[in-house]
Amino acid sequence: MIWNRLAVPKHRVISWLAIQGRVKTADGLSQMDITSDTQCKLCCVHTESNQHLFFQCVYAQRTLKYVLDWLGFKSRLDQLERSLMRLHSRRGKSKFQKQIYAAVITAGVYHVWWARNEVHWNMVVWRPEKLYRRIRECVVMRVSSVMPRKISSKDIEWWEGVKQKVYNV
Ligand SMILES: [Zn+2]
Repeated sequence: MIWNRLAVPKHRVISWLAIQGRVKTADGLSQMDITSDTQCKLCCVHTESNQHLFFQCVYAQRTLKYVLDWLGFKSRLDQLERSLMRLHSRRGKSKFQKQIYAAVITAGVYHVWWARNEVHWNMVVWRPEKLYRRIRECVVMRVSSVMPRKISSKDIEWWEGVKQKVYNV
């Protein structure tokens, strides 16, 4: 499901690596003696690992909560990783809405990694609200450019409402 075309390709790739624990986080690099600083750069509390950074860090969770609230989706944030792999289990949502869900979660994962690198390389700290806005713009632009032709009027209406929220803020 994360391979649906509404999600930006590079967002899908990072998410796929994150699920598999293959993003080059500090925990792995310290094992290879590349770095000794293993602290998470976003919360400055825990050790930075794939599991922590993308699915447990308060920074990531706060960002993703904004995103899910925007879409009106309820999701247990502690179960994001699982829900990313099993999106088809979201009952009561149309295929289009599930694809949007996948698009925003993968965009969220990608941007958390991006925000982490902003701290690491540029010493710039993005507040979760600001990161959320970037994610929102990114998703709206992507979906507008690859909008499926066959979607129901109900889905179109829902998506228009979601977009409105972006332009109104
Ligand atoms: Zn953290």
